[in-house]
Amino acid sequence: ASSHKAERSKLGPRLVREAAYTYVRPDSFPKTELVGVSKAALRDLAIDPASVETDDFKDTVAGKKIITLQGDEPNDTDIYPWAQCYGGYQFGQWAGQLGDGRAISLFETTNPTSHTRYELQLKGAGKTPYSRFADGRAVVRSSIREFVVSEALNALGIPSTRALSLTLAPEARVRRETTEPGAIVARFAQSWLRFGTFDLPRSRGDRAMIRKLADYAAEEVFGGWDKLPGKTGSDDLVEPGTSVSRDELQGENEHQQNRYTRLYREIARRNARMVAYWQAYAFTNGVLNTDNTSIFGLSIDFGPFAFLDNFDPNYTPNHDDHMLRYAYKNQPSIIWWNLVRLGEALGELIGAGDRVDEKEFVEEGVSKDWADELVKRAETLIEATGEEYKAVFMDEYKRLMTARLGLKQCKSEDFESLYSDLLDTMEALELDFNHTFRRLSYISFEEIDTDEKRKEVAGRFFHHEGLSGLVGSEEDARARVAKWLEKWRARVVEDWPNSTEAKEERFRAMRAVNPKFIPRSWILDELIERVEKKGEREILGHVMDMALNPFQESWGWSKEEEERFCGDVPKYQRAMQCSCSS
Ligand code: AMP
Ligand code: MG
Ligand code: MG
Repeated sequence: ASSHKAERSKLGPRLVREAAYTYVRPDSFPKTELVGVSKAALRDLAIDPASVETDDFKDTVAGKKIITLQGDEPNDTDIYPWAQCYGGYQFGQWAGQLGDGRAISLFETTNPTSHTRYELQLKGAGKTPYSRFADGRAVVRSSIREFVVSEALNALGIPSTRALSLTLAPEARVRRETTEPGAIVARFAQSWLRFGTFDLPRSRGDRAMIRKLADYAAEEVFGGWDKLPGKTGSDDLVEPGTSVSRDELQGENEHQQNRYTRLYREIARRNARMVAYWQAYAFTNGVLNTDNTSIFGLSIDFGPFAFLDNFDPNYTPNHDDHMLRYAYKNQPSIIWWNLVRLGEALGELIGAGDRVDEKEFVEEGVSKDWADELVKRAETLIEATGEEYKAVFMDEYKRLMTARLGLKQCKSEDFESLYSDLLDTMEALELDFNHTFRRLSYISFEEIDTDEKRKEVAGRFFHHEGLSGLVGSEEDARARVAKWLEKWRARVVEDWPNSTEAKEERFRAMRAVNPKFIPRSWILDELIERVEKKGEREILGHVMDMALNPFQESWGWSKEEEERFCGDVPKYQRAMQCSCSS
């Protein structure tokens, strides 16, 4: 630690071995402007909103001031900023050491009420040893996008890394296609560990590091081995048709029972739930590389992400993703692909189970034969975890879609006849995914009790400029939606009593899960244009307010602007794509 200064002067892109992070200090620019703070983030981090006005706060989130425990300068026993080390598979190919090239963690902090611990970091505050040939900075446009979407996802109930603030740093000139001003996002998460954090030591055969990281994840990130699934027999991973026996899963000592399988299952379950949310709210990450997949099951790394406008399963927001690897419809299987890579990184640990503590494993090293045996054993367990991943995904997806449709339960025939049929209809007619659910949340039984009425109501789901030319006659479209509404009505009637109170309750329940506001690409583009190019500032607060309270009816801003942002997507700004430059 005493060589911090010396270390800093030597900083340059380099391969960092046998380390999970490097101490590094953010750059600081004299001229910075704090332009946005998330109220929800202040609450969750237990920061007094009044302190946002202080230089202490502004300088900390701009990377100018390092919070120290003792004295003004960090010293040997103090906290010191660090950058994490990770690699990853990009578009299916091993890409080596990748990061973190532009995120520097400042400290961890625990909310005194919820006891949730967060790691706060700055993105775009300068180079780290992991920057490779890049500049460690972030442009304003991608920073605005990350700031808004992190908090929007969280407000929708979707597990996500978070954003506390957005600071402009005009002196940080960033060269991309053109030269642009820079920005810094202060962001936080319960963990910034990625699958790529494990991929990298695996690629180097660094068993000790994988094990340290796995123990750290279980003990520090998840709060202890006994918080992981499979602690009791009733939560066992025993798949019919596989050869996994109880013996292999359970050891004598409860806490020692194949603990790395249990860790792996926790990570798989969390990611299954996260991707179920993405599918249910039509969010696409766009670059689902293993370095962009979180151990904690959080949405992480916001590059060319987007919410779908019209429902199109083949949509990818990533302009460069020609193979559609990261298209909407592929997300659940891609997350699983990433989980298999993680399973391989943890393979020997998963295969060894209790025996991982034996002297042979720890000190003498694993012989080639034994390693092969362990990996083979792990395969079965990974496969069984795959079945669990699918089951957790389907349960969660059904639960979310059931709520979005205003139903109390999902009957076995609902899935095909109601859910899939709605998706097919939306796709065929190019209906807007999230608007469709919000618009359903206002429809009473009486409004759709005859075919004539249903055909009339069907028009509410169409773009106000009419259906696009691709989708056939309007009459057919109305008939198709009307037919679905008839089925839907029959199911809603089954689940809800026919009373005014029940109707109001259903409306409330549906509107609490079907957002009125979604930060779509066209809105983010307009926001960027107005903040960055036109120098507007208030608009950012208004959009953040909508993003933080997406289920509300209004936000007390401008009725006209609110309705425009919640209305149909301007025709030529639908399903936009983004490049990876950020
Ligand atoms: P991404 O495609 O966003 O997942 O980026 C892959 C990795 O490249 C990130 O983890 C960063 O560490 C690194 N990176 C991206 N942009 C920059 C930059 N401007 N400066 C330094 N590192 C970067
Ligand atoms: Mg990344
Ligand atoms: Mg990124």
